[in-house]
Amino acid sequence: MIRRTGTLGLTLLMAAGMAMAQKPKNIKPGWNLFSLEQDIQLGKESAAQIEKQVQVINNGDLNAYVNRIASRLTAQPEAGKFPYTFKVVNDPSINAFALPGGPAYLHTGLISAAENEAQIAGVLAHEIAHVSLRHGTAQVTKGQALQMIAGLGGAMLGGGSMLGQLAQLGVGLGANSLLLKFSRGAESDADLLGARMMAKAGYDPIEMARFFQKLEEQEKASGRSTPQFLSDHPSPGNRVKAVSAEVQMMPKNNYSRGDEADLRRMQGVVKGLPAPPKQTNFRQAGDPTTGRPNGQFKQFQGNGLSVAHPANWEVFQSQGASEVTIAPQAGLVDNNGNADIAYGTIIGITSATGNLDKDTQTYIQQMMQQNKDMKPANQGGQRVTVSGAPAVLNLFYNKSAFANQREVDAVLTIEHPKGLVYMIMISPESEYQAAQPSFERMIQSLQVGR
Ligand SMILES: [Zn+2]
Repeated sequence: MIRRTGTLGLTLLMAAGMAMAQKPKNIKPGWNLFSLEQDIQLGKESAAQIEKQVQVINNGDLNAYVNRIASRLTAQPEAGKFPYTFKVVNDPSINAFALPGGPAYLHTGLISAAENEAQIAGVLAHEIAHVSLRHGTAQVTKGQALQMIAGLGGAMLGGGSMLGQLAQLGVGLGANSLLLKFSRGAESDADLLGARMMAKAGYDPIEMARFFQKLEEQEKASGRSTPQFLSDHPSPGNRVKAVSAEVQMMPKNNYSRGDEADLRRMQGVVKGLPAPPKQTNFRQAGDPTTGRPNGQFKQFQGNGLSVAHPANWEVFQSQGASEVTIAPQAGLVDNNGNADIAYGTIIGITSATGNLDKDTQTYIQQMMQQNKDMKPANQGGQRVTVSGAPAVLNLFYNKSAFANQREVDAVLTIEHPKGLVYMIMISPESEYQAAQPSFERMIQSLQVGR
């Protein structure tokens, strides 16, 4: 993976611990620069991306079961008016997640682990609360407000892919994505709002907290790694106590834990499913062939350069950086909230002394310092000519974000009156041959203004 130079680090704002108020806390969505429509659009695009990488189960019984529980919850005012969808993912890990605007997913492992229907309702209510409180886009707003206001505010209103625009902010769908992993304050709010939703739907809200507590105890007892749900939804402290306090403030009611027989039947259905695919975790890079150039080309002009690029790749211009990244969605990999490039190109210009060999060496040393796994494959580079200008081509092997293979990075540096023009061509080794003609066409078409 090649780190982009233009992205800024992100700060996760950890909200202070939850206060034990006597009155129900007023829970509202936080500051958000996205519109409701943008939440929904972003959720649709993210869902399309994620569903390429997880196995969604199409089982009528399971779908009907989860949707029956979910519809009781989404009917409550706390859920807001979002186009919710609920799908079951064939994955033994205990997890659930929701995307902005409504798409929500429940792992089969969670259905197997639940003790009663109310616990499943609790997890769903918690996820619905994240959507309704718009935690994903609120977090991006908090982390990236300046950049959004400075540059993207306008662009976000125009068409184009929301995911692509977020990638420009360095926000992807990977591990620790701002869209999917929330602060403890947000977790606490989702617990409380979810508990209210459950209570109104007739489910015993304390079962939500009990389920989370059970996961925490399992983790402690086994000493194994944290269940996925807890790592995506970190505990804001004593969940049972906080939810119990919330329940105390609710009108007394005859809550239900749901239908016992139904759950056992569903757990049987889960057992009968085909083995889940081998850990195809969408939080790592997926199938690199989905990013392969499609043979058609588009022209990009901007940042002082013009270049033809594969039509199925997108252009990402870093704010304030004299660099553009042109890459397929599948080539963007989340690195703690920043987008690294595992497949694609980075083109830019950097200051130079006019001595091509020396400037190339300086540039490559900088790159290798930022990317510790890069190892030269052709020492000293190869002299070439690009549109009549002297250039050097250096090849490197690197760690690939794609499973079981290494990455090839070809770094082309070209002498130019304005400085040293560089073009980094990144691909997993398995895609190197397939991408080669497109990289060559990009090089031939590259023009940098004088
Ligand atoms: Zn959560």
